[in-house]
Amino acid sequence: MVYYDIPTDSMQLDPPIKSSPEETKFNHALRPKNLTEFVGHQEVVERLKIFIQAAKERKEPLGHSLIYGPPGLGKTSLAHIMKEEMGVNMVVTSGPLLEKAKDLAGILTSLDEGDILFIDEIHRLSRVVEEYLYPAMEDFSLDIVLDSGASARSINIQLQKFSLVGATTRFGDLTSPLRSRFQLISRLDYYSLDDLSHVVCFSAKKIGIELPLKLGRMIAERSRGTPRLANNLLRWLRDYISVCNRGVWDESGVKAGLVKLGIDLYGLDSFDRRLLEIIYFQHNGGPVGISNLAASLGEEIATIEEVLEPHLIALGLLRRTQRGRELTPQGLAHIEKIKTRGV
Ligand code: ADP
Repeated sequence: MVYYDIPTDSMQLDPPIKSSPEETKFNHALRPKNLTEFVGHQEVVERLKIFIQAAKERKEPLGHSLIYGPPGLGKTSLAHIMKEEMGVNMVVTSGPLLEKAKDLAGILTSLDEGDILFIDEIHRLSRVVEEYLYPAMEDFSLDIVLDSGASARSINIQLQKFSLVGATTRFGDLTSPLRSRFQLISRLDYYSLDDLSHVVCFSAKKIGIELPLKLGRMIAERSRGTPRLANNLLRWLRDYISVCNRGVWDESGVKAGLVKLGIDLYGLDSFDRRLLEIIYFQHNGGPVGISNLAASLGEEIATIEEVLEPHLIALGLLRRTQRGRELTPQGLAHIEKIKTRGV
């Protein structure tokens, strides 16, 4: 498999759960290997099974498919599963890395029949590259312009029939011509507590820990419906339990380990809380405009919109209004509680 260097965990910016090479290795080890191992999202899995089986029966490459949803929910894992189930090679790249048409052409011409091209953050493809992609997706052909000015000429390259798997956290940012060229569009949403508890126990088993469901649930409760965060907490707890709890996995050890990390009952860490606290202390609970908030927080607007806000909104702690962001009564109560009692 050819890997183009992509920042797979670029969306996870919180200091305690930031990706390190070791974490990336850990996450790879825990990645579900097939659709049976993929916990939850029953409907998505069922549709994919049919999609894959039909392609196999017809002995054709998989149709182009798009997976969207917040970071850490399993988009990349599903792409790897498709590769495994189809028994093909996969080239991994991302929208921002494909700066020029020649970057795309270089990859497309290296693909064999049936191979998968996985483009993460596909919403960040440049317009030019996107327009080259259309005929490649539709007719497996590529028109390349050589030279410029008077000597400019174009050559047509016929490509092998490949499958494109696109992943995005921002479905709404995709242009409709691109969207309409995907045959299967799958949406991943935050996991239910039950499903996430199973992800935790399943991941624990993979690293040799028999975790009772009750403890899996305690970890899942603080993982904001996101398997990657659940795995990161598990990884931290493995260290904590081994160093501070004599290697014994019990309720008090897990609780103490989570408190040590500064993760509160909503699964928020200090980075998330800072956003709520800034709205509470500096802007009287809101509303505050997004640019103003980004300046107070010292973060990019995109980080706020794509990384921090979605789960704060999903948890009912923050809302977007016409006049800006504001804390909900639940958000206000949470910050007040932390102010008096700590995490
Ligand atoms: P995304 O591409 O959406 O950011 P990933 O596919 O990288 O998310 O998933 C992050 C980690 O979460 C994976 O390494 C995997 O261990 C775990 N994971 C994600 N979805 C599932 C699932 N449905 N079942 C089990 N583990 C999962």
